[in-house]
Amino acid sequence: MRDNNCIFCKIAAGEIPSKTIYEDDKFRVILDLGPATKGHALILPKNHYANLYELPEDTAGDVMKLAKKMATVMTEKLGCQGFNLMQNNGETAGQTVFHFHMHLIPRYENDGQEINWKLGSPTQEELEEIKNLITEN
Ligand code: 5GP
Ligand code: ZN
Repeated sequence: MRDNNCIFCKIAAGEIPSKTIYEDDKFRVILDLGPATKGHALILPKNHYANLYELPEDTAGDVMKLAKKMATVMTEKLGCQGFNLMQNNGETAGQTVFHFHMHLIPRYENDGQEINWKLGSPTQEELEEIKNLITEN
């Protein structure tokens, strides 16, 4: 379960050095080289899955448990006041490395970062249409 052309496969396997803050048999958590804030880290599964769609369900559950554990430890050690979990799938959504990863982003008062979107203003009819599109068989 690896892609020989994938940089995160090499980092997860320890073939390319990284600042590792956690490791077990399934995951490596590394500091991001272009951090949004102090301590920005990435959860990498050791197996190669390009994105959330390819991620097995049980691994998805393990990622969330690990994210909670890391957020708790990092908040305590870094003294941040908030925390963003972020996860991009596909170029359109901002994914640049096509090996699944979860961003762990500690947030500090006045850290100058904006991890945000512009609010839309759909009508009730539009919301109803979208709800039906997603939930209809
Ligand atoms: P994406 O845009 O795919 O959600 O996130 C990719 C992230 O990986 C970016 O935050 C980027 O800074 C980080 N990154 C890219 N290449 C490397 C690398 O070789 N080492 C580390 N530690 N981070 C990387
Ligand atoms: Zn990979």
